[in-house]
Amino acid sequence: MSTSVTLRWYTKKLKLAHAFGISRSTRTHVENVFVEISCDGITGIGEASPNTRYNETPETAVAFLEKIEIPEDLNPADISSWINLLEQAGEGEYAAKVAAEMALWDWIGKKIDIPLYQLWNLNTDNSLNSSFTIGLDSIDVIKEKVREADDDGATILKVKLGSDHDKEIIEAIRLVSDTEIWVDANEGWKTLDQARDMVQFLGDKNVTMIEQPMPASEFELMKLLKPLSQIPLIADESFTGKQSLAELVEGFHGINIKLMKVGSLRKAHQIIDDAKSVGLKIMIGCMIETAIANTAGALLSLRADFADLDGWKLLSDRPFDGMKFGEGNRIVLNDLPGLGVTADTQ
Ligand code: MG
Repeated sequence: MSTSVTLRWYTKKLKLAHAFGISRSTRTHVENVFVEISCDGITGIGEASPNTRYNETPETAVAFLEKIEIPEDLNPADISSWINLLEQAGEGEYAAKVAAEMALWDWIGKKIDIPLYQLWNLNTDNSLNSSFTIGLDSIDVIKEKVREADDDGATILKVKLGSDHDKEIIEAIRLVSDTEIWVDANEGWKTLDQARDMVQFLGDKNVTMIEQPMPASEFELMKLLKPLSQIPLIADESFTGKQSLAELVEGFHGINIKLMKVGSLRKAHQIIDDAKSVGLKIMIGCMIETAIANTAGALLSLRADFADLDGWKLLSDRPFDGMKFGEGNRIVLNDLPGLGVTADTQ
């Protein structure tokens, strides 16, 4: 029997349930890249959701995957060799790299027939409630989406801000819902005065976390904002996996780790260890992803303080089944080997 490893990939356009707006753009579809690693009759799967904020597209992800040359004697159970091979294949392309690494972890879990949370010694009793994201939209549509999310059992709403009417959005939501709110400004507050004013306003509105209040280029201002905020401030665009965590803690209370930014599950585990050691809180976030990448994120969220893993829920196309939301949108993982993701046969 041949034991050589084969790598395949395809791109797939996925439709969003609602047009999704953030402070930079509005989208109705995403195009993600799916990776499969096969060996010994077992196939592991991974997913890339390339983001133009980080200069990655499905085309650049595929161009990267085409460059990977798998040696005849590669041992698929050796994750370190695989990660080295991906590193040597080229710079950047973190979404493609994490997809290829994810697929191998899935393969390894399936090969030895255990779920990855068990392989990584994680306890599913630690699972968190995920936020549910409300994108930027007209006030009426936002109120409608909030009502829908509340009816659907959401216990945390993650509200996208960074518009020119942020206070109006929060006031409108509070007319229809008293659910806990996290805010993601997506770099939208440009001056310290504006950011300080918003932080004070949001403190009175049961907002319990704020993601990326100011542009990533304004770290010096974040150092001034942090001591003024009672609400934890979390770095997203300011944290891509390359920054010094000892410096980041001067401007933020925590970091949003997204697999598509850091490019490696093994590195994400290391970042969690390092961030905890300097006192940073951990958020696990996602891009708009199917259950494949969201389930990989859900595994990491067993070590986190905040989970924002609703990408699969924002899609009306759901080609895969994996992590689910239980009561209160608590993340529920299954006991299947590997990631625990199957093709959705519905
Ligand atoms: Mg964000």
